[in-house]
Amino acid sequence: MRKTIIAGNWKLNKTIQESVDTVKKLISELNGAQLPEVVICPVYTSLAAVAEALKKSTLHLGAQDLYWEESGAFTGEVSATLIKDAGCQYVIIGHSERRQFFGETETSVNAKIKAALKAGLTPIVCCGETLKERENGQMNEVLNRHIQGALRSLSYEEVLQCVIAYEPVWAIGTGKVATPDQAQEAHAYIRQIITQLYSEEVSNQITIQYGGSVKPDNIVELIGQPDVDGALIGGASLEAETFARIIKSSAEVKVS
Ligand code: PEP
Repeated sequence: MRKTIIAGNWKLNKTIQESVDTVKKLISELNGAQLPEVVICPVYTSLAAVAEALKKSTLHLGAQDLYWEESGAFTGEVSATLIKDAGCQYVIIGHSERRQFFGETETSVNAKIKAALKAGLTPIVCCGETLKERENGQMNEVLNRHIQGALRSLSYEEVLQCVIAYEPVWAIGTGKVATPDQAQEAHAYIRQIITQLYSEEVSNQITIQYGGSVKPDNIVELIGQPDVDGALIGGASLEAETFARIIKSSAEVKVS
C-alpha cells in the first residue's frame, strides 16, 4: 500500500518563533489522532528550531528547496547535507514558484533530486501545467516533460525514494482547486508515465500528492480518488487548526 503523505509548504512566511508556536499548536491539535505521514516545510532559518519542536512527535520536517553542490563558493545556497543536518527528512524540489521566479529547469530539478537522494532526503518532486498549457491541451506534454526531466537517469531504487506532487499552477494559491476528476486524471497519467519509464510495479508504489488550493472542505473528495495519495498544501497549512482538520480528514479516508 502507498504511503499517504500530507505536507505543509509554508513558503516565505513565519518567523522562527511563529513557526515553533504553530507546530506546537499543531501537535496538540493532532494529539491522539490516527495520522498519515505529516511533513512541515518552513523557511530555512526556522528548520533547526522546528526540528527541535517536532522531536517528541511523529511529524516530519522538510525544506522548500536545496542546492545540488555539497559546499564551496555558492553564496546564498544551502546543500542537501546541511538540510539533513538541520533535521529534515524531506525536501520540496521544482515547485512552480521556483520554476516561475527563480529559473528552475528540468536540468536543475534533476540535479537537486540526485543531491537529495545522495544525502538520504526524500524529494517531493513538483510538476504541473499552467492554465494556458491546460487550455491548449498541453497537460500531458508538460507532465511528460516535467517527470521525464526530473527522473532522468535515476535507478529503480532511487525513483522509489521519490514522492511526486501534481500541482496545477492555475490552482496554486488561487482558491481554484482541481476537481477530483481532474486530479485523478492527472495522477493516473503520471503513473502511466512512470510505468513507461520504469515499470507498473514501480509506479504503483510511488506516492503522488495533489497540490493547489486544498482546504478542509475539499480534501476528502480529492484524497478519495484512487491515485491521489496525499496533498501538498500552502495557504491552508499556515494555521494549525485548519491544517489539523485537513490531516485528520485525510487519515479518515486513506489511513486505516
Ligand atoms: C503550494 O504552494 O504548493 C500550494 C499548493 O499552495 P496552496 O495550497 O496555497 O494553493
